[in-house]
Amino acid sequence: MTSRRKIFIGNWKMNKLPQEATAFCEAFIPAVKQVTQADVGIAAAGVLLPALATRFRGVQWYAQNCHWSANGAFTGETSASMLKSVDVCGSLVAHSERRQMCGETNQTAGQRVAALLNSGMQAVLCIGETLAERDSGRWTDVLQQQLDEGFTATGIKNWTAALGNDPERPLLTLAYEPVWAIGTGRAATAAQAQEAHAFIRGWLTRTFGPEMAQRLRIQYGGSVTLQNVDELMGMPDIDGALVGGASLKAEDFAQLVLRGAAAKR
Ligand code: PEP
Repeated sequence: MTSRRKIFIGNWKMNKLPQEATAFCEAFIPAVKQVTQADVGIAAAGVLLPALATRFRGVQWYAQNCHWSANGAFTGETSASMLKSVDVCGSLVAHSERRQMCGETNQTAGQRVAALLNSGMQAVLCIGETLAERDSGRWTDVLQQQLDEGFTATGIKNWTAALGNDPERPLLTLAYEPVWAIGTGRAATAAQAQEAHAFIRGWLTRTFGPEMAQRLRIQYGGSVTLQNVDELMGMPDIDGALVGGASLKAEDFAQLVLRGAAAKR
């Protein structure tokens, strides 16, 4: 039996005005109150975060991006300490949409992870291959390169210290998000996702040893819905979900979290 605490995060992307976000929280938070065995978070647009994080304490609030510098001439960016100051617990890093549209690289991803961890905040590092990379059989090479380059770019030497003191909630979570499954309605099968998660855990074991590999959580993301959440979350190396489209309706996302958290593995 796997003992890692599952983690579910809704990625709202560039959706919801303040009133819509408030209405969502008023329905969603009471509906997931009974979920004590898993972590539940929402990654919201930066403009929403201060009001939501101050008012709604029943979920963990995440940003969708975080700059690696403490401050300075970086127009349009937000630092880890700014996020922390408004009770945001962490940030997504290198979501595939940012890799595709905003020039995110493995190097900048690693730098962002380091900034968050050094501030004692959660980082959710997203990795995943495109359809062409999967179809050509190169998907393990792609994941390996994203992991090799991303972890090297953090510059972190002492991972035990960097992951923080909470044994159930290490500050770094990996999110395996095959690009071909994001927003397409074509989720990876549970077997495909498990195979990729086992590959990532194998990389972690070879690189950092079994203790860290067993401790780190690996979320699956890509068209997770009420229809496939039980099977995906029943897999031994899948430790939760990063959910886009299906996180936008409070009742649906609450059901998804309840079912995913209860799934036995
Ligand atoms: C995502 O944006 O991280 C995501 C997984 O989206 P969706 O669930 O809509 O595929």
